[in-house]
Amino acid sequence: MLEFDLLVREINNCERCILSATRTQAVPGEGSLDADVVFIGEAPGFYEDRDGRPFIGQAGKLLDELLASIGLQRKDVYITNMIKCRPPDNRDPLSSEIEKCKPFLDRQMEMINPKVIVTLGRYSFQRLFPGEMLSKARGKPRQLNGFIAYPIYHPAAALHNPRLRPVIEEDFKQLQDLLYSDKGLGDSDEKDISEQLSLF
Ligand code: URA
Repeated sequence: MLEFDLLVREINNCERCILSATRTQAVPGEGSLDADVVFIGEAPGFYEDRDGRPFIGQAGKLLDELLASIGLQRKDVYITNMIKCRPPDNRDPLSSEIEKCKPFLDRQMEMINPKVIVTLGRYSFQRLFPGEMLSKARGKPRQLNGFIAYPIYHPAAALHNPRLRPVIEEDFKQLQDLLYSDKGLGDSDEKDISEQLSLF
């Protein structure tokens, strides 16, 4: 899709914030532009910055396993991050960096138009639902501007705390139901993206 290629080029050439000075390269995202589900992490880390691909380190390996557990591969979904460039030493992204990057994510969602947006971890979750606790909201799908937003823990959290592993596995099982049942969440299939507000 030409429009998406242009967006990727724009992300790759972006100099809207200081991360452009320290990145090796931007990491726009990867996967199917027809995906029913988009996964949104926090920011690229060391390996992602090196190779220009999202989620290819340890957390990415777990994400691949979780996808496989519900019969999906990377090529079936789209995977991206709140911000497209690695913060130095993997520090937390600044709100100014998230703000500058947000139009890219909005445009990606608009073009892919997935059924479900899975937020991985608290950064993308709190962007959508400020002031809420991920531990309370995780695993509970809800409507958001015509999409189904589905917050879950970040795979890296399950690597640091093995007790979260069954929780994230369970949340993936439910994602499978969300994607393959016709029930969805009410009128979620009748979304009108032309009317959509900025998501992030
Ligand atoms: N963690 C993230 O949030 N994103 C990546 O791309 C890799 C690790």
